[in-house]
Amino acid sequence: MNPFIGIVMLVMLQGHGVSMTEAPSRLHPGSPFMVTVSGLVSGTSYDVRFDKADVPLKGSGSVRLLLGVDLAHPDGNDRIRLYESGTASPITSVAVTIRRHVYPSQYLKLPENFVELTPAELKRAIKEEKELDGIFANDKTNPLWRGDFILPVRGIITTPFGVRRFFNGEPRASHTGIDIAGKPGTPVAATNDGIVCFEGNLFFGGNSILINHGQGIYSMYFHLGKYAVKNREYVKKGQTVGYIGETGRVTGPSLHFGVRIADSKVDPELLFSLTR
Ligand SMILES: [Zn+2]
Repeated sequence: MNPFIGIVMLVMLQGHGVSMTEAPSRLHPGSPFMVTVSGLVSGTSYDVRFDKADVPLKGSGSVRLLLGVDLAHPDGNDRIRLYESGTASPITSVAVTIRRHVYPSQYLKLPENFVELTPAELKRAIKEEKELDGIFANDKTNPLWRGDFILPVRGIITTPFGVRRFFNGEPRASHTGIDIAGKPGTPVAATNDGIVCFEGNLFFGGNSILINHGQGIYSMYFHLGKYAVKNREYVKKGQTVGYIGETGRVTGPSLHFGVRIADSKVDPELLFSLTR
């Protein structure tokens, strides 16, 4: 083959001038990250895929989106891939290294009825977990979020993200959000713009609100006293969505705040700094 034709073909295969970068470069299980795709051609549909995420993209020029490394993602190398919709081989891809990260352990002594669930409680908790998983699955909506994600309430973070918990010596699920202590009745703000997609009482979460921020991003507010918004309501960043309470499985008045990005559990504190 004429070497010149070879070079031209290589350039074409590398994606019609479309490029992709991701930040930050140091990732670990629980890290959210920002992907910037440049050189998009208007009228063409694209998909960005990473782990469980498949985010559709449209537009021209440069587009930013948020993705996350799930708390349960293994350490090692992975790849973010960009496809033209409906095609099997990626236009371009970016390698990411997921470094090992040891989250702290927390040992709590709790009354037995806090640790052991009755069969009825267990049945309820499993049913609710499935219901929430259904909400998180395969969201392909356009982004509603803008700019930075904010802390929903000022206060001391009593349990950070990722902590491996032991109740009365028994291992329990890792903590997939942050707990913020606060006085009952303290307003809780929406972390970003979005649509309320769940409002109800959960066995573990107590009075709970979930907000869909589009592009597969959700925020969760648990243990609320009262709600300030209704399901399906559009909310603005900073708007009061509820008030701190002590509902559900909790040992004192506090807010459990969690974030999912394309069904990956990520550290909210890293999301605040990433988008600031
Ligand atoms: Zn919590």
